Amino acid sequence: MATPIGNLEDITLRALRVLKEADIIAAEDTRQTLKLLNHYEIRNTLVSYFEHNRIERGEYLVNQLLEGKNVALVSDAGTPGISDPGEDLVRLAVSKGIPVTMVPGPAAVIAGVVLSGLPAGRFAFEGFLPMNKRARRERLESFRRETRTLVFYEAPHKLIYTLRDLRDVLGNRKAVIARELTKKFEEVWRTTLDEAVTRYENEAPRGEFVIILEGADERELHEAEIKNWEGISLEEHVRIYTDSGLDRKEAMKRVSEDRGISKRDVYKSLIGK
Ligand code: SAM
Repeated sequence: MATPIGNLEDITLRALRVLKEADIIAAEDTRQTLKLLNHYEIRNTLVSYFEHNRIERGEYLVNQLLEGKNVALVSDAGTPGISDPGEDLVRLAVSKGIPVTMVPGPAAVIAGVVLSGLPAGRFAFEGFLPMNKRARRERLESFRRETRTLVFYEAPHKLIYTLRDLRDVLGNRKAVIARELTKKFEEVWRTTLDEAVTRYENEAPRGEFVIILEGADERELHEAEIKNWEGISLEEHVRIYTDSGLDRKEAMKRVSEDRGISKRDVYKSLIGK
């Protein structure tokens, strides 16, 4: 079940009832959850469930569920399973045929993408980028052709590295830096990657951040592709497709589409070759 991402008022009536009625509350950090329970004068049994005890504790919780107990799972903030522990427990419970339900509520990704003003109809949530150099580079490269809005989580001390990496691989795109959402110092800065890098090279970032980035421009991608084809001959272009398994007729059709020329012109130029 979801809990607030900063503002304690962001909790549903159902969430409060479930916190009261559950037999056990499994919490990522029991001290953090205790603050929430104290605020709403709720007393209940808390057990910890976090990254490093999720295997043994997961088994314990599933056994409790199999005995008929109700377990409410909460993370430190927002929605469990969204860059937080929860996914494994849900999978385990589902695999044992245990009914699982969701008490929906805040998630920083949703607040960020909605406030960004960037297209929210199609977006890709990427959470935290990998730290491993190679995996990170591959992930960043995979965004080059991604036309959906991209959403990232980042810790303040790593913000500048991530902004620089995004800028270096994807160029100077529109970016929205959403900070301290739902909290007193909430800030939604609609800017560009260049400007964001400059700012955070000169200022230590404070608080929690969501980075929302515009996707690749479909028309620019298409134009870049056409330009790529310009560097090779028609015959080579056709061969790329025949090598990939298409018959010659289908390959010529694809070439005509790629180059925006008629099929007849492709056939005519290639007659006899
Ligand atoms: N499960 C949470 C959710 O539903 O959003 C996310 C947990 S993840 C460990 C923590 C990251 O979420 C932070 O580093 C930050 O990127 C983002 N985040 C959480 N609360 C936020 C807030 N109030 N404002 C901006 N970003 C926030």
